[in-house]
Amino acid sequence: MASDLADLLSDSAAALIEGTPKRLFIGGCWVTPASEDRFDVDDPADGTIIAGVADGSPADAIKCIDAAEAAASTWSSHSPRSRSDILMECFHAMHRRAEDLAVLISVESGKALTDARAEVSYAAEFFRWFAEEAVRIPGDLGLAPFGTGRIAVQHQPVGISLLITPWNFPAAMAARKIAPALAAGCTCILKPAAETPLTALALAEIVHEAGAPPGTLNVLTTSRPAEAVKVMLDDGRIRKLSFTGSTSVGKLLLRQAAEHVVNCSMELGGNAPFIVFDDADIDAALNGALTAKMRNAGETCIAANRFLVQSDVYEAFAAKLAERMNRIVVGRGRYTATECGPLISKNALEKVSTLVDQAAVHGGRILTGGGTLESDGYYYPPTVIADVDPGSEILNREIFGPVAPLVRFDSEDQAIRLANDTEYGLAAYIFTRDVQKGLRVADRIDAGMVAINRGSLSDVAAPFGGMKHSGIGREGGTYGILEYLETKYISISW
Ligand code: NAD
Repeated sequence: MASDLADLLSDSAAALIEGTPKRLFIGGCWVTPASEDRFDVDDPADGTIIAGVADGSPADAIKCIDAAEAAASTWSSHSPRSRSDILMECFHAMHRRAEDLAVLISVESGKALTDARAEVSYAAEFFRWFAEEAVRIPGDLGLAPFGTGRIAVQHQPVGISLLITPWNFPAAMAARKIAPALAAGCTCILKPAAETPLTALALAEIVHEAGAPPGTLNVLTTSRPAEAVKVMLDDGRIRKLSFTGSTSVGKLLLRQAAEHVVNCSMELGGNAPFIVFDDADIDAALNGALTAKMRNAGETCIAANRFLVQSDVYEAFAAKLAERMNRIVVGRGRYTATECGPLISKNALEKVSTLVDQAAVHGGRILTGGGTLESDGYYYPPTVIADVDPGSEILNREIFGPVAPLVRFDSEDQAIRLANDTEYGLAAYIFTRDVQKGLRVADRIDAGMVAINRGSLSDVAAPFGGMKHSGIGREGGTYGILEYLETKYISISW
């Protein structure tokens, strides 16, 4: 382990890098996987290998289901208060270990330490929120319209839940699934992304130490997700699939889940428009743009992907945005001055670089950034491209990088048309001083989440999710727990 990294980590976090990940967390203990196979986790800052992690096989995947099944009746019969207490302890434990978790996240995902710290705090909030929700699971009792009996409606755990998470928020995306699943009384299997398994293993330790019975949460690390997940879905005992990741993999999993009529929640990709009207507070819009674009180096599903700016303020906004983006400090995530870390992989870097080059070939003006940075790591410079051709690929795909493409518009209708001209519908941002206009536009935008005069919208108390190809279902808020509950009606002769 690099000496500067060893200095930043406590002994238990160092163990998570050096020893623990060679085993799988199943049934409340660290077990040796079926084979000796390992896969490498690398540091996106320089490509060096930071850990060898147990490569779970289909046989290990079935062991995870066995463990989750064995724990199911114990966990669902725990009182809501007892489940709540365990989740609340997870919240406190995450705060006690916050710095270790932030360093782990930063090292394996590359993100700036400030972003990683914010993620830990956001992730911990899901445990607190669902600790509070666990004791408020709703039910109904009513009289049938013809007075023939009573209609009782109750909710019960949907069953063994398979939780699949991406690498861009290794703690938050896992917590946003584990916490409501456990609150609802479901046992689960977490399958983290192969790029960021260490944070998931740290969370498993936290949930276990907080008192969750063995088998309540099992973690399958694997470099062969397609194989392992197919085996689990085909097994027939998985009743819930909650997936966060790309739209293409989400569609594939929906097809596989359909075979077994598995209840699915899908948090998929985005292509968020960021609309600046000419009556906007431009400084507020710039601050919002920096937040919406640059959190996690642009590697977020709700990142502003297309900047639609009204003609009168277009040039001024473009110039100021370029000036602010140019000042961003790019560097190794765990250095304190860093504002923008490396991208996750060489492939990600090549994709972003190609999208920018193509946009430039089609007439886009690069105001800052572009090109490559001299480094072994996967760095891309913060970039602003003005006058992007509306047909350019960069406007149709998730960029997932620190790149802001700008498009000019004249009228409100045109802004809405451009904003909705995508298969995605996750997030949108609107900047205007006219509140009525902001609300009117928010109504007409096809997105699950709209921010007005703000560059951020994630909140544990709000329903997070998308329309169209951005997903099905909502995480967080009072809706999040419903994804893990089955509704049962009981007809009673009173
Ligand atoms: P990805 O789809 O490549 O992988 C996501 C997860 O699915 C990983 O755990 C991966 O191992 C697994 N996976 C990959 N192929 C699989 C297969 N064939 N069968 C089963 N599992 C498989 O996505 P990613 O690159 O890890 O994450 C980035 C994507 O996630 C972006 O599209 C981003 O927008 C999306 N995302 C969405 C949200 C949201 O809340 N809507 C949040 C974060 C990320």
